Amino acid sequence: MKETILTGIKPTGKLTLGNYLGVLKRLPEMMERGNNYFFIADLHALTLPIEPEELRQNSIDIAAFYLAAGLDPNKCNIFLQSSVSEHAELNAIMQNYMYMGELSRMTQFKDISAKINITKDAKDAHIGLGIFAYPVLMACDIVLYDSDIVPVGDDQTQHVELCRDLVNRFNHRYGDILKMPKAEKRKAGARIMSLSDPTKKMSKSDPKGDIFLKDDPNVIRKKIMSAVTDSGSEIKYDVDNKPGVSNLLSIYAATKNVSIEDAENHFQGYRYGDFKKEIADAVVEDISALQARYRHIIESKSYEQVLKQGAIEAKKTASNTLKRVKQAVGLLNLD
Ligand code: ATP
Ligand code: MG
Repeated sequence: MKETILTGIKPTGKLTLGNYLGVLKRLPEMMERGNNYFFIADLHALTLPIEPEELRQNSIDIAAFYLAAGLDPNKCNIFLQSSVSEHAELNAIMQNYMYMGELSRMTQFKDISAKINITKDAKDAHIGLGIFAYPVLMACDIVLYDSDIVPVGDDQTQHVELCRDLVNRFNHRYGDILKMPKAEKRKAGARIMSLSDPTKKMSKSDPKGDIFLKDDPNVIRKKIMSAVTDSGSEIKYDVDNKPGVSNLLSIYAATKNVSIEDAENHFQGYRYGDFKKEIADAVVEDISALQARYRHIIESKSYEQVLKQGAIEAKKTASNTLKRVKQAVGLLNLD
């Protein structure tokens, strides 16, 4: 039997090259392998302040880029988290089985709350309950579809671990109700770093040195040509001593679907300028084709029907899981 694979993207900002190389570009291959749920985590996007119009536009973009990256809606379910109400309903139940202590130890929560305290004006310096309780909703996203595999970047492995703890705890108390998921760490492109500070992850909610998927190809080229490199002239993958060069090698390897070693060998003896130019060429070629498909999807609005149909399909599985959980915990079923 095929494994069930679930992955989501939050519409918190403009999609980046990190999102593409880390996840979007890998999805078509995954689609062939499993029974897939690829969703837009719009409820999660509300955990940080965002303008309504921006949230709507970002959500449409994720749907369109899922399709532009090569997903076939006949082979996977593409849907909005908020249009499958079971996510929120299960969340209301599951929040009682995750503990304040474990939630407060999550790195993402600690990082984001520290940043809010430092950077926001006093009037914005509030930490919403949603960002604290984020892993509860994420666990619900996962278990609703009896997911086997959750492909994640380094940033989300801790949350999947917490989800596994929750499944253990819940099943121990109520029997074999929830499926145990497993995080699958990606290799190439697992963590694309900022071009201006290669010790920081390229991230859409905190964009610095990001390449955006909707950037004009000339802008992409310019950003790569002015990426931070390191002292010395050797092209070598060494994250500690050469974070800039290593990041560019990762970008090249993920773009061309080759290993880091192959990329390193390919660039032996190159000077930084030529090295960057060839990487810029590779990225621009890939992203230009992606953008052409994206524009076509936006013009035809084909994503609308895909999202509607995706939600109907997703609901079939999600409602079964929710029923099982309600029954287990003792909520009356009057059907
Ligand atoms: P946010 O800043 O809101 O967390 P993000 O850019 O980290 O945004 P997510 O919505 O959290 O994006 O994640 C979507 C997917 O993209 C996840 O699978 C995540 O692991 C992956 N991803 C995000 N940033 C990178 C990156 N820099 N390199 C590789 N993969 C990434
Ligand atoms: Mg993230």
